[in-house]
Amino acid sequence: MTRFIFVTGGVVSSLGKGMSAATVGALLRAHGFKVRMRKLDPYLNIDPGTMSPLQHGEVYVTEDGAETDLDLGHYERFLHQFARSADSTSGGKIYNNVLVKERRGDYLGATVQMIPNVTDEIKDFIRSDLTDEDFVICEVGGTVGDIESLVFLEAIRQFSNDIKRKNAMFIHLTLLPYIETAKELKTKPTQHSVRNLLEKGIQPDMLICRSTVRLAESERKKIALFCNVEAENIIPALDVDNVYKLPLIYREEGVDTRLLEYFGIESKTADMSDWERLAERIDNVSGETTLALVVKYAMDSDAYKSLKEAIYHAGLMNGVKVKIKWIDAEMLENVSDDVIAAHFKGIKGLIVPGGFGVRGTEGKINAIRYAREHKLPYLGICLGMQLAVIEFARHVMNIDDAGSTEFERPCTPVISLMTEWNRDGEKAVRSKNSNMGGTLRLGAYPCVLKEGTVARRAYGQPEIRERHRHRYEMNIGYLQQFEKAGLIISGRSPDGELPEMVELAGYPFFVGVQFHPELKSNPFDAHPLFVELVKNIK
Ligand code: GLN
Repeated sequence: MTRFIFVTGGVVSSLGKGMSAATVGALLRAHGFKVRMRKLDPYLNIDPGTMSPLQHGEVYVTEDGAETDLDLGHYERFLHQFARSADSTSGGKIYNNVLVKERRGDYLGATVQMIPNVTDEIKDFIRSDLTDEDFVICEVGGTVGDIESLVFLEAIRQFSNDIKRKNAMFIHLTLLPYIETAKELKTKPTQHSVRNLLEKGIQPDMLICRSTVRLAESERKKIALFCNVEAENIIPALDVDNVYKLPLIYREEGVDTRLLEYFGIESKTADMSDWERLAERIDNVSGETTLALVVKYAMDSDAYKSLKEAIYHAGLMNGVKVKIKWIDAEMLENVSDDVIAAHFKGIKGLIVPGGFGVRGTEGKINAIRYAREHKLPYLGICLGMQLAVIEFARHVMNIDDAGSTEFERPCTPVISLMTEWNRDGEKAVRSKNSNMGGTLRLGAYPCVLKEGTVARRAYGQPEIRERHRHRYEMNIGYLQQFEKAGLIISGRSPDGELPEMVELAGYPFFVGVQFHPELKSNPFDAHPLFVELVKNIK
């Protein structure tokens, strides 16, 4: 039997709802249950693919090619299992499905309404594509009280009755602000937030209360009284120094015991040893090194969430702390070599991550040139690989105007739009005029590695599968020229057609990848390319 846990958030956003949901999932998995995590984002975009990563954080890509919210990244990293495209939806997608059905005549004769048509569509999503899961955890994006959330809350309320209320649990995440002058934790915003939920017919069964100081017993009782939640199910959640310690902390607070008690089921096993070993590794890192990230959004934001995590995991694996220096790519444009060298003072390695559009690309090319000329270990991801190819064409092959057709400037197109390609034996097509959303090469593709390369050594296996999210590719018309000039194509599609990885001979680590390795890294299994990079800079 499948039980459903719904996670909502109140008071303010950014409380780490995704992380809390993932932690609950990780705990249940440690008890031997089969867990599935899902995200329902109420906004009207069909998916986050066209949203600014500055606003919404990175776009996470699943193995089967869905562009999703970054919370799916937390789910994968905490549960150590792949999410699927069926695990993420949005208001836009739900309404779109309903409207398509309306035009098709599926509701013929009926007036199409929020209830039951939109709520049914949401409920169908919640129960779709399930087999024998013990638990499905559904996180509802946004904050209770948002207009967009209304119909989602109504749908989960109905759903909890459809499956019998005792098989569903509502967890609500709130904030207890600490008022310094009064030296008091304030419970009122939590009370209001729960009241708001109650208005929608949802009685939370557990409250996870974020705060900076520990909740006193009297405050716990007060919240229990006003919010109608058992005192033991009011869980204090203080800020933590490392999110990967959350499962152990939640366990200490009794979250798992309370969950199992609520559903009246027994644990199958209780094995937290992975998390204990991880915590030990976290506390035993010594020494540090610095990696430069040359980016368009020069700040430590969620725009590069998975990348930061992958670097962190590789640091743990190597027992070293990796500091990141964020460099705004535009600061490296139209400046002298000395200025560039000054930016790289004390830097042991460079990553140019993925990106879209021309802004900052010349600065990134200057950074890559510096890395190539100074044998600074380099990892180029997606756009970072394309720019490494352009840099090589310009400065090693002397094709002065080498460029990508993405940048809409006259150039020798060593990177260009691929209009046709092969996916699992089927032809996929796109053109320059295709819609922006959903026309990328997305999801995992196999890649065959060349013997004797850094790539082959790092992965330790001849074939890999990595996730893509891009429109442009290395122009295969120039491949022979590149290889003659010394660029090694270290990874290709199995048919041998498409270059997926490039590297330079005689370098400790100078690797470009057309895919996003950061999406498959997790704290238990750091990604081999990042591990190899960090090994070379520690
Ligand atoms: N803008 C490039 C492309 O579309 C690279 C995309 C990326 O880095 N994810 O191919």
